[in-house]
Amino acid sequence: MVGDSSSNARRDVIVIGAGPAGAAAGIVAARGGASVTVFEKAPYGRDKVCGDGLTPRAVGALNELKIDLDFESDDGAHRIDGLRMIAGKTTRELAWPDTTRFPPYGAVWPRRRLDAALIDAATDAGAEVVFETEALPIIERGRVVGVKAGGQEHRADLVIVAAGAPGQVARMLGAERVADEPFGLAIRTYAESPRHADRHLEACLTLTDENGVAVPGYGWMFPAGDGTVNIGVGALSTMKNFKQLNLNKLLGSYRALVEPTWQIGPDLERPRAWRLPMSAQKRHGAGWVAIGDAAGLVNPMNGEGIDYGLESGILASELFLADPMTAPTRYDQLVGERFDSFLRTGRRFSFLIGHPWILRSGLRLAVGTDTIASITLGVMGNLIDSETPGAAGRVLGIADKALALADPLLRRTRAAS
Ligand SMILES: Cc1cc2nc3c(=O)[nH]c(=O)nc-3n(C[C@H](O)[C@H](O)[C@H](O)COP(=O)(O)OP(=O)(O)OC[C@H]3O[C@@H](n4cnc5c(N)ncnc54)[C@H](O)[C@@H]3O)c2cc1C
Repeated sequence: MVGDSSSNARRDVIVIGAGPAGAAAGIVAARGGASVTVFEKAPYGRDKVCGDGLTPRAVGALNELKIDLDFESDDGAHRIDGLRMIAGKTTRELAWPDTTRFPPYGAVWPRRRLDAALIDAATDAGAEVVFETEALPIIERGRVVGVKAGGQEHRADLVIVAAGAPGQVARMLGAERVADEPFGLAIRTYAESPRHADRHLEACLTLTDENGVAVPGYGWMFPAGDGTVNIGVGALSTMKNFKQLNLNKLLGSYRALVEPTWQIGPDLERPRAWRLPMSAQKRHGAGWVAIGDAAGLVNPMNGEGIDYGLESGILASELFLADPMTAPTRYDQLVGERFDSFLRTGRRFSFLIGHPWILRSGLRLAVGTDTIASITLGVMGNLIDSETPGAAGRVLGIADKALALADPLLRRTRAAS
């Protein structure tokens, strides 16, 4: 539907934004019998600047939502069996960690198609989805009571903010990113490659800027299985002179590096960059919750945000269905229990690798052997099975404690100018 909600009658739930987070919230709330309207300012089938990579954790969340990855169809996803980690001259081809919690495969699903599949599922579940319509919260005496959209007021018991990286909605709610916490920037495009059906994500961890300084981040080749690969680079704000980092040049030098092995054709579209928020000043208040990027839920260790959007969207709606009154506070508490300590460790880690010499020596260690590289993959991908934590679980526990101790020093000596 475009531009007009069928009525401005009161809803149980209004969702702002139809990315993975908003769609997941819409699916769960509508399947649970709530009346839901999702407002999306872009048209149906919009693209999102993204690497399109889904870890087993994200596939697990899609399975929970009963979204068919449809590997056989042209609209479906491309199955991925693991990660090829490259650091300098070392290459390690790793299977996904073996856990009882997540499926043994990931995927690449270009966002135009993934997001359409998700929002179609929300519509099928009975949610009303209104495209090309910006929605802004209505705040009365400190409480969000609904949204203004398409020139009308729409009231709801809960407004779920799924508007992506903080913008106007976040400013209105005081939910912008925390100024002294790190964030990421990344750029991507698509190109044709004979290796488009490769079954591994590829990540090159040894990027350097035009002055030869090590960049905390990575370059990726994510094969989409449809004739194309998603090629991109991302960097963390904790590096020195981050503001001067030219992402187009970084992508250009990464492209030159992978051209011989991937035989990629020209860019299929102009490379586009976008932000990766990794903190939020608030993620709930009276009458509202924020989910996904709007809540700063991006893994600082690998830039993954689709899974966190899906998981937080599912959680927010489940809690609403259980008890609308307590949903915002319960959500803040439970999303915190699930993610806060991991994301905090990730943010501390990003200050650590902002120092080029720590980054270089850390990388040598991280890819030293297949076993250590597999642990690195498990930790960085948050693919740890809490019931049988194994080596990766122990490493994360130790890293958490060590980084907590080092945190004040890391922040004081942060590399960023
Ligand atoms: C270059 C790049 C590469 C990335 N690669 C990966 C990857 O490979 N894997 C991964 O998991 N993550 C990746 N991420 C992160 C991932 O893209 C995000 O974490 C994810 O899109 C978050 O989903 P979301 O639903 O919270 O927000 P979004 O996907 O940003 O959706 C928000 C939606 O809200 C709409 N909206 C905003 N304001 C309003 C409003 N006022 N009214 C109505 N609609 C509104 C927007 O139009 C948008 O459609 C990458 C990010 C970048 C920048």
